[in-house]
Amino acid sequence: MPLPVRAIVFDLGNVIVFHDNALLFRRLAERAGLSPQEATLRLTGPLWNQANRGQVDAEGLRQGVCNLLGVDIPDAEFFELWSSHFTPNPSLFPHLETLAGQVPLVLLSNTNVLHIAWLRPRLPVLERFRHLLLSYEVGLVKPERAFFEEALRRAGTRPEETLFFDDMREYVDAALALGMRAHVFTDTESWVEFMRREAPELTLG
Ligand SMILES: [Mg+2]
Repeated sequence: MPLPVRAIVFDLGNVIVFHDNALLFRRLAERAGLSPQEATLRLTGPLWNQANRGQVDAEGLRQGVCNLLGVDIPDAEFFELWSSHFTPNPSLFPHLETLAGQVPLVLLSNTNVLHIAWLRPRLPVLERFRHLLLSYEVGLVKPERAFFEEALRRAGTRPEETLFFDDMREYVDAALALGMRAHVFTDTESWVEFMRREAPELTLG
């Protein structure tokens, strides 16, 4: 029998909220009068990583993206456009609500200040998490070991009693290497099956 689960760590993107990056790049391209290929090429440089590490603030990120695209997009318009590719995954929310009453939930996300500012009021379920570990606040990103260790420290649990879910195989492997019990998230239905097997002591929503 596996040890009882004492905390659960969740990724954000493509788990709690879906993000269609190709759509984002298409929309930014259209606004800048560029082809989607050209916009994608320009935007997949170091800026994304710098934003995830908190090395640029909200205004630095807006300016950086605008400079790369060769267009000036005003604040309010940029704020909406930059997050226009998100779709919540409400099928997971009742489960998160129910689990939050049983074990600490920790969010572990590679993200930037503007995406969280846009998402947080639209995802009240995030308020049920004990800790939101956001890469741009901590200055660490997945798959860095220290970022996972920080999640364990905040959860106050040992790796073998902590579950981790992420859509990225690379990040799941990093968690497994640390001794966490980790699983690639694809959809809520198969996640529920995994939970029933791996953590039968917990009640789902
Ligand atoms: Mg993700």
